[in-house]
Amino acid sequence: MQEEVKLIVDGRRIDGRLPDELRPIKIEAGVLKNADGSCYLEMGKNKVMAAVYGPRKVQPKHLADPTQAIVRYRYNMAPFSVEERKRPGPDRRSVEISKVSREALESIIMKELFPRSSIDIFVEVLQADAGSRTACLNAASVALVDAGIPMKGIITSVAVAKVDGVLVLDPMKEEDNYGEADIPFAFFIRNGKIESIALLQMDGRVTKEELMQAVELAKKGAMEIYKLQREAIMRKYRVEEEEEE
Ligand code: ADP
Repeated sequence: MQEEVKLIVDGRRIDGRLPDELRPIKIEAGVLKNADGSCYLEMGKNKVMAAVYGPRKVQPKHLADPTQAIVRYRYNMAPFSVEERKRPGPDRRSVEISKVSREALESIIMKELFPRSSIDIFVEVLQADAGSRTACLNAASVALVDAGIPMKGIITSVAVAKVDGVLVLDPMKEEDNYGEADIPFAFFIRNGKIESIALLQMDGRVTKEELMQAVELAKKGAMEIYKLQREAIMRKYRVEEEEEE
């Protein structure tokens, strides 16, 4: 019963956050030796790993596009990533998440530079706690940069939820379960500025005014995440430089 769960008490959320606060975020680039680019990312209790391969020859060959690279994105939840074991393999939800996430990233990848090739992005959710698609997109963006894939900018993703009538940034599982709305966003950020929305989904109900406020709240969160993505990339290059010296 929605009414019985109080998600905001004295202006604070059940994990102590203010409505406009993100969960703690940890990002590490270049963690997998056998991928061209990779990233491990935590967003609250979400733990995800992204691996990028490419540009490389398309397999199977008949999928090759003579004018540009094809981009593939696979979002997968490990069976142990949720409380009740998740049945392994793709399902409708993961297929949908993979599709919208791919479309968000495809819009910024310079595909025309690599005809007949593929850029393959694999994202594994090791532990999920709401917002896993946003965590995966943030990790995938960093992994793409780590792989050296030319891009027009970067994608940064965060959700906003409405709980107890209040808009909150980066909802956790309880807020997602018992809240009135959940709105994942992804933004295209170029030269440190948000240029456009690359993904916007919603379930639940909000007013037009609330949706506008949700966009502003998500933008604020995205800029904070963007800084951490940049730091992770710079840290990786610093470590590589030190190793070379
Ligand atoms: P997102 O993780 O992007 O918020 P959803 O809103 O669909 O995507 O899912 C919210 C949360 O519900 C997930 O992060 C996960 O914790 C849980 N969940 C999703 N699918 C399953 C599943 N098949 N089994 C158990 N828990 C799931």
